[in-house]
Parts: sequence; structure tokens; C-alpha cells
Amino acid sequence: MTTDQTTDQTSNEPAVVVLDDQETTESAAAEPTRKLAANEHACIDCGVGVPDADAADLIRVDSSRPLNGAPVELKFARCVECTAISERAQELLDGHPAARQRWASAGLHRIASALLALDLIGQPLPDGPMEQPALARLVRHLFEPGASARWVTDYAPTVARPTGRCAVTRWSHVDERQALQVRAGYARALAERRAAESGPVRVPCPEAPDPDLAACLLCGVGAVEVSAVDALKHGGLKAAEDLCWSALVVATPGVIGAPPSPEAVRGWTCPACTQAIRDVGSVGHRACMQSLRTAAKEQGNAALDARLATVTDDGLDTIVSWAGVVLRRRGKGYAAPRPNRVAWAHVAQIKDPPVVDRGDE
Ligand SMILES: [Zn+2]
Ligand SMILES: [Zn+2]
Repeated sequence: MTTDQTTDQTSNEPAVVVLDDQETTESAAAEPTRKLAANEHACIDCGVGVPDADAADLIRVDSSRPLNGAPVELKFARCVECTAISERAQELLDGHPAARQRWASAGLHRIASALLALDLIGQPLPDGPMEQPALARLVRHLFEPGASARWVTDYAPTVARPTGRCAVTRWSHVDERQALQVRAGYARALAERRAAESGPVRVPCPEAPDPDLAACLLCGVGAVEVSAVDALKHGGLKAAEDLCWSALVVATPGVIGAPPSPEAVRGWTCPACTQAIRDVGSVGHRACMQSLRTAAKEQGNAALDARLATVTDDGLDTIVSWAGVVLRRRGKGYAAPRPNRVAWAHVAQIKDPPVVDRGDE
């Protein structure tokens, strides 16, 4: 609950919290709140004054006084607009048994608070039935700012604003900081929706010390596909790059099929090849074979899969990584090949082992 007080000077001093607000002077239009008229109660959500005649029922809320914690019962109404929002929230909850299961009795409060947040910033409520991910997204980003902007939040569980008052207009009690939090939540929800609709994004290999080796050193993919939602969750493309690509130094280039050299091969590996190196315990022909087998299965390349099954331990060194191809070709004066679009594409047209020999073309 928020204890921020910008609307009433008296409430900054806990000792002067008043329950009937006799001392507060009205200063007309600029004030975000006003005294309640007789037979009027504040809307529990948006805070506007609701004539008792217009309120279906008064809502009783148990609260406590600040300092001494003495119990106090407060009464609120719910305006026509907020009643419609509450009914819409109930409809959405009824349409999503999973939400009810997940949030139990708090489900209605969560959904209604998110919808109230939309109302507060003048955004239309979602129309018709909502997909579960869309509802979860809305609640994730708007429930908290929406709940903390509700009028009742300043009155329960502790009375933190003078009673006997209401908002001059719907939501007029909400200060700029709270409104900004709602807008920020709405912007996040929108960004996440766009990401969900935009499909996967390609996360390119980071810059490599050798510009010709700007792809996975083993399988040769130049970019890794991740869902845009995942990229957004991790903080954007740059952060996703750190997650997707692992730095690799191969001290003995021969173990990945590159020409022998005292110079280490430095660059990056994609998630699949990083995993293969981890599974095998070291970088080398065995890790290449593991990654290649995974790729053959994922690509549904039965012919390649069958051929790989015939490669014996002695034949493992016939598997040449993409970095091996680049360095072999360069050693013979050929231009370096472009990164692969598909993992291990440089071994796609193998006939017999040696699996790869494009470096000798
Ligand atoms: Zn209201
Ligand atoms: Zn790879």
C-alpha cells in the first residue's frame, strides 16, 4: 500500500490523522479531493463521491487507526463505471479457470486492479474473451500499479488519509508518480505483446577477433534464433547475445579440424555447440560429432544421421568444424566462406568420410 501523501498536508503528520476532517479547508478546483456531502460515500476504486441513492450497496472495510491500531470500520460505495469494470473482471475470471486456480480468491482483485489501471490512463478495456497469455500479461504488468492507485489503498489496512473525503473527479487523488507507474506498466505490457506477435528474432554472433570467424566455431551458424519474448525478458538483443553465445579458445586448432598452428583459434559457440562441449567435457572432434548428430536429428536429415552412425572413433578426426573449413580455405588462398544459415550446412553434401573436405576444393 502506498503511504505517499501529496494531496493533503495534514496527513503528513501521523498525529493529526483525522477521521472526520473538520479542520481541512476546501480550496476548490485545484484540490484533488473534497469533503463528502451528506449521504455520499467515496467510490472504493476511483474515489469519486457517489450519492447513496446511486450506490447499490455500501462496502464495509475493516481497517485500523495509525499509531494505536484501534479497529475502525469504513464504508465505501462503488460508482457505475467501477462497477462495470468489476463485472468485466468477474467475466474474465469466469472465462479462465486456470487464472482462478492460480490466484485463488485473489484472482478477481488482480484482474480488476489491472482493468482499473487501464481505466485510470484512459485506455479501453479489453473487448470480448481474452487469450490466457494476454490476460496474464495484463495482470503481470498492471495489477500492482492499479491496486496501489485505488482509493481504498489509502484507507486499509491502515487509515493513511483523512476520512470523510472523496476524489473531486474519478482518479483525481492519483498523483503523478502513481500515474507514471501505471503508464510504465502499460508500456511494458504493450512491448511484450508486440514481441509475442513478432515471432523469433535472430541474435547474431558477437564480433570475433578474426572477422572471418564471426559465427559458431563448430557448426558455423551466424545467428541464433530466440523468441522475441525471451529476448525482451532478458533485457533486449544485446543481453540475449550474452546468453546465446559463449566465448571459446581452441589452443590446439587441429582438434576441430583446422590446420595445425601455434596460434589459438578464438571466437564463439552457439548454445547447441556449447552444450555439446559441456556434455563431452572438452572441445574437439567428439564435441563436433555430438553437435553434428543433434543437428542432423533436429533437421530431420536421416541420411546424414545414418552416415554419422558409421563413423568410428578412428574416423572422428575427419569431421571438420566450420572454423576448420575457414582456416583451411584461407591457408590455400581461397576466400573464407560465409557463416552457415543452418548448423553444419558445410557438411550437408557429404558422400563418404572424410565428412568434410571443402578446404581442399
Ligand atoms: Zn469509481
Ligand atoms: Zn554451433
